[in-house]
Amino acid sequence: MTPYQSEILSNLSAARFDVEKACLAAGRQPSDVKILLATKTVAAENVRVVIEQGKALLVGENRIQELVQKSQALSDLQYERHFIGHLQTNKIKEAIKYASCIQSVDRIDLVEKLDQQLQKEGRQIDIFVQVNTSFEESKFGMEPDLAKDFVKKIGAYDTLRIRGFMTIGLFSDDEAAVRRSYVRLREIRDEIIGEGIVDTQANQLSMGMSGDFALAIAEGATMVRLGTTVFGKRVY
Ligand SMILES: *Cc1c(COP(=O)(O)O)cnc(C)c1O
Repeated sequence: MTPYQSEILSNLSAARFDVEKACLAAGRQPSDVKILLATKTVAAENVRVVIEQGKALLVGENRIQELVQKSQALSDLQYERHFIGHLQTNKIKEAIKYASCIQSVDRIDLVEKLDQQLQKEGRQIDIFVQVNTSFEESKFGMEPDLAKDFVKKIGAYDTLRIRGFMTIGLFSDDEAAVRRSYVRLREIRDEIIGEGIVDTQANQLSMGMSGDFALAIAEGATMVRLGTTVFGKRVY
């Protein structure tokens, strides 16, 4: 094992400890919050170490090229792969071939194209609805006010199983503002499930990253997506 790989493992242990601490502080069960490793730019052999050691079994990729390449390099391992980046409709085939869940479903043309391909293949896939609760223009995700209608529309496609909602929180030092972006996602979920538009199978909240996962957990995250705190600063 390389020194960097040992470092990754100890970073992950520390992160897991901090996640548990945040759960307890919020009066929640640590088992209710999953850690997804956001592995963009991380080499396959470094992802391999974490999975082989059984330290993590849930990985998220942002780019199709990395998803394909690392999935192939790690095809001998059992772990769950999610796609968490912006998905272009011309990359759908690869996305659903290698990921069991698409967390970034944020527009109807993507829904239609996913459905077409899944129908062709005669199967279903798990999705999260990505909502832009931080109102940053550069970010993908649908407008909060449109989320309910969007979920209603997805209901017509039985190839897509909604498992929850995803957001990229506000990137800011203003804790209260960051927190609001997470509260908003929780409220959207509660309203949509409360009205019976989807059932409780869709109750997951994928929110919180390295810098703010404790806030997200306090506001109900069921999955935090960690990159930097485990793998260090990304080198592009
Ligand atoms: C990179 C990324 C993360 C992880 O971010 P860190 O701050 O490095 O923990 C989480 N979610 C998405 C969608 C990402 O692209």
